[in-house]
Amino acid sequence: MKFQELNTIEERVQLMEELSRKFLLRAAKNDEEGRFPFENIAELKESGYTSLTIPKRYGGEEISLYEFIRLQEKIAEGDGSTALSIGWHMGIIKSLGEKKSWEESTFKALCEEVHNGALMNNCATEPQTGSPTRGGKPFTTAVRDGDKWVINGRKSFTTMAPVLDYFNVSATIAESGETGNFLIPRTADGVSLEETWDSIAMRGTGSHDLILKDVSVKEEALVELFKPVKKGAAGWLLHIPACYLGIAQAAQTYAIDFAEEYSPNSIKGSIIDLPNVQQKIGEMEFELMRARHFLYSVAKQWDEEEEEVQSSMGPELGAVKLAVTNAAITVVDLAMRVVGARSLSEKNPLQRYYRDVRAGLHNPPMDDMTIQLLAKNAIS
Ligand SMILES: Cc1cc2nc3c(=O)[nH]c(=O)nc-3n(C[C@H](O)[C@H](O)[C@H](O)COP(=O)(O)OP(=O)(O)OC[C@H]3O[C@@H](n4cnc5c(N)ncnc54)[C@H](O)[C@@H]3O)c2cc1C
Repeated sequence: MKFQELNTIEERVQLMEELSRKFLLRAAKNDEEGRFPFENIAELKESGYTSLTIPKRYGGEEISLYEFIRLQEKIAEGDGSTALSIGWHMGIIKSLGEKKSWEESTFKALCEEVHNGALMNNCATEPQTGSPTRGGKPFTTAVRDGDKWVINGRKSFTTMAPVLDYFNVSATIAESGETGNFLIPRTADGVSLEETWDSIAMRGTGSHDLILKDVSVKEEALVELFKPVKKGAAGWLLHIPACYLGIAQAAQTYAIDFAEEYSPNSIKGSIIDLPNVQQKIGEMEFELMRARHFLYSVAKQWDEEEEEVQSSMGPELGAVKLAVTNAAITVVDLAMRVVGARSLSEKNPLQRYYRDVRAGLHNPPMDDMTIQLLAKNAIS
């Protein structure tokens, strides 16, 4: 069954749930081995998922932000690493279709490849810049050579590197000092990966270093020049909180299943009936409900608004990310308290969720930047 054959969001969420159950079965082993979830990504491609955000003008489904985050959340219930990985690709294609910031012919050609399964991601972070959202200038350079560009540099945190077909690399143009994005195919000479990803969180994302050594690309590879004016808001980044919300939901589900089963001989029945356990389950439910309503309502608002209003939604989008990722950390903590010391066993999925939700703090936008933005917003 393909997503394209289904008509409603709920039917598509249901199909994703079926895929996600399979992802859950593979999650522990991939995490243990720090292995990229190749099979999950292949199944997402086969199901037609990876082309759902292509705009209608290029034969795609142009799904709404609300539908996108619902589907992403479901993937994350099975495997957070798979969700975060594919979320970048899906979100970037969605955003490019809306912003129209690339030459249309270049974007159209990319969409044709995405229909055939191609995957892409932004490669913005470098060891020298830290988080690019803080304004660091790329150390990676692009030098003109006739009608070509020659790119040299190193990008860190290249999520999904093991299967990417295109790297959208930010670089500083040597002649002018301007910065821009260059679309570099994996097959270009001088492109290689260094398997540096040793994070204890999101171990399956394959976020290795990308090495660019005298990579020569056509003139059109410069797909976007960054403007000095303030950037618009990025609704597509809501795939990040959706991912951590999905992981938190998986933690709550596991804790409830455990509490229903666990029956120490100090009590009759299982611990699910105990007030101290129900207190924590209720607190988890409260956190999840609040996070979900906030995330869904801002996504729906984005879908309903015109571009001008969307571009002023930065404070809401940042606030959602801050609220949901921190709620996810709280939910996993509560789930572990329900389960007790067994939650720390290597065999227990909660210890994976505990590590994975921490990564949300280091995905954009960072909490301190959001708080500053909210303060500015309130003052103005
Ligand atoms: C799982 C995962 C997947 C990722 N995938 C991608 C990807 O696909 N593509 C990509 O490009 N990136 C990716 N990233 C990188 C991410 O976007 C950040 O760039 C990266 O996590 C570094 O952020 P940081 O806050 O730790 O780094 P830094 O910005 O170096 O911050 C480290 C510390 O220094 C402080 N700090 C640094 N500079 C400033 C400043 N100017 N003002 C105030 N405080 C400052 C911060 O507050 C923080 O305490 C990923 C990260 C993770 C964790």
